Amino acid sequence: MEKKYDRWDLSFLYPDFDDAQFKADLASLKDDAQKGIDILKNESLSRRERLEQAVSYSEQVSAKVDRLNNFISCTLAVDATNEKANAACDQMMVAFTDIQLATSALEHFIAETEDLEQLIASSDILRPVAFALREKKEQAGHLIAPEIEPWILQMQLSGGEAFSQLRDKLDSTLVVDYRDEKLPLAGVRGMAYDPDPAVRKDAYEAEIASYAKMELPMSYCLNSIKMEARTLAKARKFDSVLDMTLADSRMDRETLDAMWTAIREYMPHFRRYLKAKGRMLGHQNGLPFYDLFAPVGSVSREYTVEEAREILIREMGKFSPDMAAFIGNAFDAQWIDFYPREGKTGGAFCTGVHYADRSLVMTNFQGSFSDVSTLAHELGHGWHNRCMAGLPYMMTDEPMPLAETASIFNETMLSWQVLSSCSPEERLYLLENGLMEATQTVVDIYSRFLFEQEVIDTRADHAMSVEELKAAMLRAQEASYGDGLDPEIRHPYMWACKSHYYYSGYNFYNFPYAFGLLFGKGVFARYLEKGPAFAEDYCRLLRSCGSAPVADVAASVGIDVRDPAFWRSSLEVIRKDIDEFVKLSEARNP
Ligand SMILES: [Zn+2]
Repeated sequence: MEKKYDRWDLSFLYPDFDDAQFKADLASLKDDAQKGIDILKNESLSRRERLEQAVSYSEQVSAKVDRLNNFISCTLAVDATNEKANAACDQMMVAFTDIQLATSALEHFIAETEDLEQLIASSDILRPVAFALREKKEQAGHLIAPEIEPWILQMQLSGGEAFSQLRDKLDSTLVVDYRDEKLPLAGVRGMAYDPDPAVRKDAYEAEIASYAKMELPMSYCLNSIKMEARTLAKARKFDSVLDMTLADSRMDRETLDAMWTAIREYMPHFRRYLKAKGRMLGHQNGLPFYDLFAPVGSVSREYTVEEAREILIREMGKFSPDMAAFIGNAFDAQWIDFYPREGKTGGAFCTGVHYADRSLVMTNFQGSFSDVSTLAHELGHGWHNRCMAGLPYMMTDEPMPLAETASIFNETMLSWQVLSSCSPEERLYLLENGLMEATQTVVDIYSRFLFEQEVIDTRADHAMSVEELKAAMLRAQEASYGDGLDPEIRHPYMWACKSHYYYSGYNFYNFPYAFGLLFGKGVFARYLEKGPAFAEDYCRLLRSCGSAPVADVAASVGIDVRDPAFWRSSLEVIRKDIDEFVKLSEARNP
C-alpha cells in the first residue's frame, strides 16, 4: 500500500530533466549573466535607469536560478546517481562563475555611484532593496581593486584552497589502528556515541595516537590558511581577521563581546552538568573527553510520521495557529521527503523556493524523538521562509548568526512542551541530549574561538609548531571546559580533526553557531515572557533577518544583543535544564 506521507513532490519546479523549459532555462544562464553586465555598460541610459534595470533583472535571474538550483539539488539529494541531474549540476556550476562576474560588476557599479542615496529616495524600484544597495556601497572600501582581484582568486587556488583540499585528503585517508582493525577517522570518532564505555575509551586512545601520522602536514595547512586570512584582511583594509569576519556576518564587536561575557559567567553551570554526567558514568574527577558524547538514560517511545505531524501541529499551535496550519500543509502538500532509502543522502535540510512561497524539507525519519525534533527544526526554517515571502531576493540573504533563529526556536519549543509530560528516565535522556548539544555549541565553540584567535595572532610572528598548537588547544579547553573535563584526559588535537578551521575564505567559523543557538533560545525566552502575543513580533523579526545588521534586526523586537543581559536570558533557559539534569542524576545514583 502506498503511504500517505512518503516523498516530496518536485514537479511544481519542472516535470522532469527532459522538459523543454528546464533545458532552455539552464542554457540561458550564461547569456543572462552577460546581459546583466551589458545593462550596466549601456551609456545611452542614465545611471539611475541602469541601476534600476540591473536590479530588476537580477531579481528575475535569481528566481530562475532558485528554480533550477532547487530542482537539481533536491533531485540529487534523494537520488545521488541520477545521471541527468548530475550533468545539469555540472552545467550549473559553470553558470555560477558567470553569474558571479555579473554580481561583481553590479557591486563595482554601486561602489562608483556617488549619488546612491538620491537614486534610492526617488525610485520605487530601488527603495525596497535600499539596505542591500547601501551595504554594497559601504563595503566598497573593502573591495579589492578589480585589476588585482582575479590574481588573488587564482593564487588562492594554489594557496589556501589547496591547503584546504590537502586537509580533506589527510583526514579522509588517515588510518586509525583500533583494537585489531584499521578504520577511517570518521568511523572511530563516531564510536564516541557507543553505549559501551570500553569502546569509547579505546576509540579515543586510538584516535589520539593516530594523529601523529598527519600532525606535521596538518599544521602546515592550518598555519598557511590562517596566514592567507591575515593577508586578505589586510588587502581588504580590515584591522584584523576578526573584524573582516564580523563585517561579513553583519555583526559588531560589542555584540560579540556581550555574548562572550555572558557565556563566561555561565561556564560554571556547564561544568556542573559535565561533572554530574561524569559521576553518572563513574568518574570522580570531571568528565574524561571520551565520555562527552556517552549516551545517558533511554527513550523507548517510537513515533510514526502521522504522530509527528499531530504533535507538531498541537505544540506549535499553542504559539501560533498560523504556524500550525503551515506545518499541516507542509505534510499534506508533499513538501517533505520523509524516509531513508538507497541513493538518498543522510541528515536533513530545508530549502526555500522563494518565488513559489514554498519550502522543501528532506529528512531521514526513523521514528525516534530526535527525528521528530529534526522535523520541528527544519519546519522552523520553512516558517522563516514563509515569513520572508514576497521580499525581493536581495533582501532575503540572512547572515549565518541569524540563519538558525527559527529552527532553534522550534526545537526549544518542542522539547519544552514534551519534557513536561514524560517519565523521569525519558526526561533524563532528553535533557542530556539537549545539554550535550548545547555544551558543544557554547563551551566547545568558545574553546575553538580562543584557539583560532591565538593561532591568527601568533601567525603575525611565526608559524606554530605541532607542540605549540597542542598546547594552545589545551589552554583553550582549560579556559572553557575548566574542571568540567578531567584535566588528564582532554583532546590536544581538536585542531586536527575539525574541518571548520580549514575553510579557505571563512574564518572563525565558530561564533555564529553559539550566536545562533543562544539567539534562538533568547527569542524563545521572549515568547515565555509575552505569550502568544509574541507571534506577530516573531514573524516580523524573521522577515527582517536579511534586511539589516544583526543588532538592528534584534532591536526591531526590543532585543539588545549588545547587552549581556539578553544573553543571560538565553543562558537561563539552558541553566534550568542543567539544574533539573543534576537533580535527576543525583536521584538516580545518590
Ligand atoms: Zn538548521
